[in-house]
Amino acid sequence: MRAPFLLGGVSVKAGTQRMINLPLPGMYSDTPVTMAVHVFHGRSQGPTTFVSGAVHGDEINGIEIIRRLLSLKSLKRLKGTLIAVPVVNVFGFHNQSRYLPDRRDLNRCFPGQESGTMAGRLAGIFMREIVSHCEYGIDLHTAAIHRDNLPQIRADLTNSQLEKLSWEFAAPVLLHSAAPQGTLRFAGSESNCSIMVYEAGEALRFDEVSIRVGLRGVVNVLKSLQMLASGAQAVVKKHSSTLLQSTSWVRAAKSGIMRAQVGLGELVSKGQTLALISDPSGIQNVAITAPFSGVVIGRCNLPLVYEGEALFHIGKTRATSTLETSLELNMNDNDFAAPQLIEEPAII
Ligand SMILES: [Zn+2]
Repeated sequence: MRAPFLLGGVSVKAGTQRMINLPLPGMYSDTPVTMAVHVFHGRSQGPTTFVSGAVHGDEINGIEIIRRLLSLKSLKRLKGTLIAVPVVNVFGFHNQSRYLPDRRDLNRCFPGQESGTMAGRLAGIFMREIVSHCEYGIDLHTAAIHRDNLPQIRADLTNSQLEKLSWEFAAPVLLHSAAPQGTLRFAGSESNCSIMVYEAGEALRFDEVSIRVGLRGVVNVLKSLQMLASGAQAVVKKHSSTLLQSTSWVRAAKSGIMRAQVGLGELVSKGQTLALISDPSGIQNVAITAPFSGVVIGRCNLPLVYEGEALFHIGKTRATSTLETSLELNMNDNDFAAPQLIEEPAII
């Protein structure tokens, strides 16, 4: 029998699951605050992996992905240990905000320290209680407010384990990015925990495709790590990601009101008009064009833009001839809506 798993002073016996409320700094109203952590400690040996949501408190697709993950019956036969944290930035979540009450971005404060700022303390608790136990992590994000991301995995693909798992996740697009300093991903790389980031959808919104692709990806990774049986929550068709060579933001050349001409997942060619920016009377019009050919993986949804604002995130890929078909197949696959994986109606 495996030894019990210890987290936050609570012991979880092998073959059982528990929700542990980790104490955090409280509210100034003296209301206690805790972070809910779900531990599934399998009967048999295997890796320890975490899945986290809402490190940015307003990015809620990940919370729904984790809610659906927790309901999977196959977790009863899990090998290894799964730690699921639906809401990491509890304070931002309450305020429907990306940030903490001290206006810091938690995902720039890792690894933190428990005698530091509020953000640093929260990061330090997460590192000590979660990351230090784990070999792998999947951190679920969305675009920032008024922005939308095509479902994508970002990972340091020079880490061979992470590269393999990133392909196994099989998000529509995959991009290599060295983890920025201060991020959870960066802190993981410094403490032997390989973390990938899933980015999909928009802050403060549920997007059903992003949620389904995310859940499917997490299950794919757990299967690849042999934490879930290969037959568990069978996804019949095997999808593959399109690798992006590089990405770049196209910015507003002037302030004004933007009329976007291209959507997420659309292929654009060099020189193509992405948007028109006008003054409210429509007297002056400026076309924003694509600096190179690629695919739109992120965009600004709010038409009111300032000069310099990031409007479209374009990814360069060699797979242009097959990209549209593979994106379509990857994102509109009904197999992963199969009853054994999603036992509930879609969020519209
Ligand atoms: Zn985020």
